[in-house]
Amino acid sequence: MIKFLDLQKITAQYSDEIHAAVDRIVDSGWYLQGEENKKFEEEYSKFIGTKYCIGVANGLDALIWILRAYIELGIMKEGDEVIVPANTYIASILAITENNLVPVLVEPDINTFQIDENKIEEAITPKTKAIMIVHLYGRCAYTDNIGVICKKHNLKLIEDNAQAQGCVYTPQSPKGEGDNKSVSPFRGLGGKRTGSIGDAAGHSFYPGKNLGAFGDAGAVTTDNEELANTIRTLANYGSSKKYVFKYTGRNSRLDEIQAAVLSVKLKYLDKDNAHRKEIAKYYIENIKNPKIILPKIVDYNSHVFHIFPILCEQREKLQNYLTENGVQTLIHYPIPPHKQECYLNSEKLKVKSEKFVITERIHNEELSLPISPVMSIEEAKVVVELINKF
Ligand SMILES: *Cc1c(COP(=O)(O)O)cnc(C)c1O
Repeated sequence: MIKFLDLQKITAQYSDEIHAAVDRIVDSGWYLQGEENKKFEEEYSKFIGTKYCIGVANGLDALIWILRAYIELGIMKEGDEVIVPANTYIASILAITENNLVPVLVEPDINTFQIDENKIEEAITPKTKAIMIVHLYGRCAYTDNIGVICKKHNLKLIEDNAQAQGCVYTPQSPKGEGDNKSVSPFRGLGGKRTGSIGDAAGHSFYPGKNLGAFGDAGAVTTDNEELANTIRTLANYGSSKKYVFKYTGRNSRLDEIQAAVLSVKLKYLDKDNAHRKEIAKYYIENIKNPKIILPKIVDYNSHVFHIFPILCEQREKLQNYLTENGVQTLIHYPIPPHKQECYLNSEKLKVKSEKFVITERIHNEELSLPISPVMSIEEAKVVVELINKF
């Protein structure tokens, strides 16, 4: 059987090093807020290219803390609006509603699956305070024009980088200066990693992500010292000094064992992502079936293929056929956030469903093929041959 993602095999690659790291923590007697956290935070901020990294309990919390910190710092307030793609994983939206902010959903571009930069400005109102881009499926969602829009309307740019650790932004224009060279404030961003482009970014190290821990884990990266300090305080009960509480925070810390495991795996992330790209390239060059729409990749650098999404009108039939032939697939995601029970008839998210034609199409037709750092080209070949015969 070809598994969608073989976590056991992924871990086995670095088994000795991981066991040694875990043993070290077990024997140390120090399990929270210690040297391993500090070390991983330093390594990860260096890797992403930001001044600060704050390890937190999970990716959802990372996003919640960014917005909560902006509220505590007086930059946002309840009822303010945050623009977010309609086809994201629900965590992006939960982070907004959890803070009593209002998600304003914007349709994606069917060719990239990322927020449609041409539909952002019409969604901006006097209450808009931020755009949250989501590098969905591991593909960079940032565009030069999004940077221009943020500056023009004085909006914070928040990145949901849960699916894109290691992804590098490659500008559309050759010099990386945006379409409008005289306006773009984001000159020379080309070559930067996602997670270092906006004002702050949330990262998830859920086991299945490209950089996965052995349980829940997450982080925030930012260049803003005040924001970093506020988030660190919020995630530690609202306290930066023992038994003194500045905010009503929560316990949302990254533990030492997870930090140590992540330090080991981070060293191999670029190599792992390079392998994912090879599998993706193989799929793109070899899948030939008019019933299948492949992702359109302009530049393999700005994609780390957390997910390899295809579109197929007969998705259910295709998925059953692949399952019967021993190939595991998943759907990311079967129900869009605005149609989830939690937001139906809810004051927190008021949208007209008929506005989200592209989002709903993606949710109806998307199928994710197996892809991972341990999948072989031979396995990819089996998948390709099956799909071409479908
Ligand atoms: C996984 C994920 C999250 C949440 O991360 P957790 O660590 O599972 O809380 C947020 N946004 C996106 C896009 C994700 O894929």
